[in-house]
Amino acid sequence: MPSSPSATSVPRRQKLAELISDDLKRTIIRDTLAEGDRLPNEKALMALYGCAKGTVREALMILEVEGLITLKTGPNGGAILNAPSMEPASRMLRSFLHFKTLSGGQVYQLRRLLEVEMAVSVVGLLSEEDFATLEHNINECTCHRLDDEDQRRQRFLEIEFHHVLARACPNPLLSFMCQFLNDLLHDLVVIKKAYLPERKQFDQANQHYHDGLITALREQDTERVRQLMTEHMRDAEHHMTALEMEMADQLLVTPEHLKTNH
Ligand SMILES: [Zn+2]
Repeated sequence: MPSSPSATSVPRRQKLAELISDDLKRTIIRDTLAEGDRLPNEKALMALYGCAKGTVREALMILEVEGLITLKTGPNGGAILNAPSMEPASRMLRSFLHFKTLSGGQVYQLRRLLEVEMAVSVVGLLSEEDFATLEHNINECTCHRLDDEDQRRQRFLEIEFHHVLARACPNPLLSFMCQFLNDLLHDLVVIKKAYLPERKQFDQANQHYHDGLITALREQDTERVRQLMTEHMRDAEHHMTALEMEMADQLLVTPEHLKTNH
């Protein structure tokens, strides 16, 4: 593995660009800038920080990569603030985890706790539009078609149901964590084709829990929501573990983390 450069070998300009981007982030918070607001133009930033154009551009590019601004060229161009989105943060965290060995069981170790807390936190907060979206999602899920593409779509709809709930969560950190775990599961479906083989039982169980959750959420029955989401996560974990065993059998290799269970 190549050794990482020591702090002293990092070019000075890059360090300066990072300092400037950090300072611009503080400015955004201090001046309570909102979506669509502009940062000062390049010339103003060069004067403000007493640095070269290249350094200012680098600092702005850092903010762009982090999804905080969009850089537009032309007479009306400049650095325009984006609405904070969780997508860049989720993507970076997933990249960080990409080379680690992460099992479905480990994802569910967190999901078992967080999904329950999240579901309970949205009791009384869902709008009629949210309920309509959830009901539409269930209706889409109940079309029992069998080919691979539909199985995959079914998995995405299942994840989307939880996304709708997570977006209504009043705790931004809990909301982020739940959406992040959903994104991880989404990646598993795409990369590991975790929708194969056909899992009709899993689909039926999901539908049962989703139906029950909507009713309990409508009735604002917190204890019922807690109970149903707890059971749903336990059941989903069971299916995920079974699927991993099948995949391991297909590969004729048993992942280390599954060896002790069977
Ligand atoms: Zn579900």
